[in-house]
Amino acid sequence: MDRISTWLWRYRGRVFAGFLALVVVDGATLVMPLVVGRAVDDLATGRQHLVQYGLWILGLAFVALVLRYVWRLLLIGTSRRIERALRAKLYAHLLSMPASFYNEMRTGDLMAHATNDIDAVTGACGWGLITIIDPLVMIPVSLGIMLSIDVRMTLYAAIPLPILTVVMLTFGKVIHRRFERVQEAFSALMEKVRENVSGIRVLKSFAQESGSERDFAPTNQRLVDENMSLVRVHGVFHPLIELLGGATLAIILWVGGASVTRGQVSLGNFVAFAQYLSMLIWPMIAVGQAVSFLQRGSASLQRINVLLALPAEIAETASPQPLEGSSLEIRDLTFVYPGAEEQASPALSNVTVRVEEGATLGVVGLTGSGKSTLAHLIPRVFDPPDGTVLLGGVDVREIPLGELRAAIGFVPQDPFLFSATIAENIAFGRPDAEREEIERAAELAGIHDEIAAFPDGYETRVGERGLSLSGGQKQRVAIARALLCDPKIVVFDDPLSAVDAEREEVILTNLRQFFRGRTCILIAHRLSAVKEANHIIVLDKGRLVESGRHDELIARGGIYARVWALQQAERKVESL
Ligand code: ADP
Ligand code: MG
Repeated sequence: MDRISTWLWRYRGRVFAGFLALVVVDGATLVMPLVVGRAVDDLATGRQHLVQYGLWILGLAFVALVLRYVWRLLLIGTSRRIERALRAKLYAHLLSMPASFYNEMRTGDLMAHATNDIDAVTGACGWGLITIIDPLVMIPVSLGIMLSIDVRMTLYAAIPLPILTVVMLTFGKVIHRRFERVQEAFSALMEKVRENVSGIRVLKSFAQESGSERDFAPTNQRLVDENMSLVRVHGVFHPLIELLGGATLAIILWVGGASVTRGQVSLGNFVAFAQYLSMLIWPMIAVGQAVSFLQRGSASLQRINVLLALPAEIAETASPQPLEGSSLEIRDLTFVYPGAEEQASPALSNVTVRVEEGATLGVVGLTGSGKSTLAHLIPRVFDPPDGTVLLGGVDVREIPLGELRAAIGFVPQDPFLFSATIAENIAFGRPDAEREEIERAAELAGIHDEIAAFPDGYETRVGERGLSLSGGQKQRVAIARALLCDPKIVVFDDPLSAVDAEREEVILTNLRQFFRGRTCILIAHRLSAVKEANHIIVLDKGRLVESGRHDELIARGGIYARVWALQQAERKVESL
């Protein structure tokens, strides 16, 4: 399991070079008061080497300037590299997760991991590291030099230090807690905005803008309140630190001033001493920050690690078997969704059916009867139990995933189009496809004419940041996408539900050409769509209740026959 240190070690070259630059800058900063002290002593004794000292100070400042740039680039740059690598790793992992993972995980939480948690790790690897190293050099060296100037003065100066430590620790805790609350309030606000913006159409159609606005106000106010509570501690904390700094300086003036007049400490050393004292304050604060940076970073990395440790993709089989035939066999399949174990009845119960190679299976049933569930189990979007779903006589769990999915052309019930051109959306499974092939697939799916009529034809952008397609258009683009991959097995989940009955019939007639020689699972809510299928099954609450050919089912006079009569009557009414 990776820790912050593991990540830093991977970039050790840059980190050590950055450290080196940081330490040299600290060195230059630490020499500066000594030079100033010398200059003051020279002034007091009337010697005039001021130009020389001035040049020294300029030189040191220049070295500090250059190397500060270098360490910032190296150390902050490394934290950004770690950020990129960690985010890429997390993203790749999320892509490899099975659908069941997304079934149980909330999008908001995943977003938080990908943003806030990664930010916290970046913070720990960048500023967290710097705020450890810097004080580690600055505090002991400053104290050492101060002791060498005057032990008594150093001890007096140290009197307010314990108070400073107590102040830092208590305030550090309070600031940390309030900062977390600000973050939470911010996430809540983001979630609210996201939800209302994605649901804006529903919101408007129910004229709920004012309600949403009222609902938004407290969330908005909470963020301000939490931020103000943070501002208030900061408002006390910073002046308090300054006050303590002032107090040490006052003590030094009393105690040290006396030593100077008595001639025990030179004026220059006194000035240098005062400078070291004020230089100590920042590193003292930095130590407190380092602790909080590292705590947050390692807590966040822990959360990311938990995600990364989840087993990726549905396990690949240990004994892969090539997919040869394309007959489909479902054997006594009972399926319960992960996370839905509490539910009264499984999504599918004891379903058994066989589809010969090249044949078409029609699947019908009411909403919620398990049709889509069945469709998802074939390409293993969800994993079926062992030995229940077989393709070409081989358990789908034994077939290498890449091979399995390449063989199946799956059109989900609610297809998704990416923010890209229509052509890119159709060629999604085969980015190398020729334009002609894309158009042929679109033609077969009955959408070519409509695409051609779009402003930019096949180059029209669709999805989030483009033209919105109707449900029926999206479905047909998804069909074209599946056809283009030339699959051996076709799984269509009610792919024309949003198209009118006449158009559905025309498209299906065209598609039958394509279906020839391929094994087809055709789900439909309109029975006319599956009328020609070699075999039809009727699902009800996850159970297979009727099966046979169209005329057999009609003759049987069960659910299928009743629904058929109803739908025929509806069409007559519609055509009046
Ligand atoms: P259909 O496609 O026939 O309308 P589904 O297969 O979508 O039916 O749903 C069958 C049952 O499984 C329903 O009770 C539904 O609530 C449940 N279900 C569907 N998808 C999920 C899911 N991702 N997680 C948990 N339960 C689900
Ligand atoms: Mg469905």
